[in-house]
Amino acid sequence: MTGLQNYISTSSHIVFFGGAGVSTESGIPDFRSVDGLYNQQWKYPPEEMISRSFFESHTKDFFEFYRKKLLHLGAQPNKAHKALAALEKAGKLKAVITQNIDGLHQKAGSENVIELHGSVWRNYCVSCGTQYEVDAVASAAGVPLCNCGGVIRPDIVLFEEALADDMMLAAANHIAKADMLIIGGTSLGVYPAAGLLRYFSGTRLVLINKTATHMDQAADLIISDNIGEVLATALSI
Ligand code: ZN
Repeated sequence: MTGLQNYISTSSHIVFFGGAGVSTESGIPDFRSVDGLYNQQWKYPPEEMISRSFFESHTKDFFEFYRKKLLHLGAQPNKAHKALAALEKAGKLKAVITQNIDGLHQKAGSENVIELHGSVWRNYCVSCGTQYEVDAVASAAGVPLCNCGGVIRPDIVLFEEALADDMMLAAANHIAKADMLIIGGTSLGVYPAAGLLRYFSGTRLVLINKTATHMDQAADLIISDNIGEVLATALSI
């Protein structure tokens, strides 16, 4: 039995906290990683293009970037998503807290998913609040508009916007109750990751990430490998 398997078998309230690295195997690159030649296609840095002020001042450019770089509607769950869903069904995993907006955890069968940054699958009119299917944004030419004339936007947290209080509270509560916390596919550099992890008082902090993070010193187990492979192997699936 590996160290990770041992931890899982003897824990009863596991919480997973994940970031962009969880979805890269599904063909969804971290939008922040656009660089080099590719980046020259865009006139602005990616962080700026998904900020609230950019959405308001350059709405058409926002949606062009959004559709090309953030909407991956055909993406399928990978081994990591499937392993986490299986772990939840087994009663071990109590919550997935994700910074991703792709909905792949739900697609894999996970039920208790806290989407800190929202989801591309939910969309609403900024003027009247009417909710729309993702297709209203995905297939619109230019700026997607509601029947009332308002702009339809994705229910995601843009830069310069605050995270929902209830979401943050739910995440903090789950982390506080966890006896084991698995952090995967994130360098923990993105707000609010670091702040939330302060609530963890369990004894098993596991980091699964290809590169080092500033939490490495606090971890009880560090696995520098592909997260999908690591989880699938640990669960023998
Ligand atoms: Zn409207």
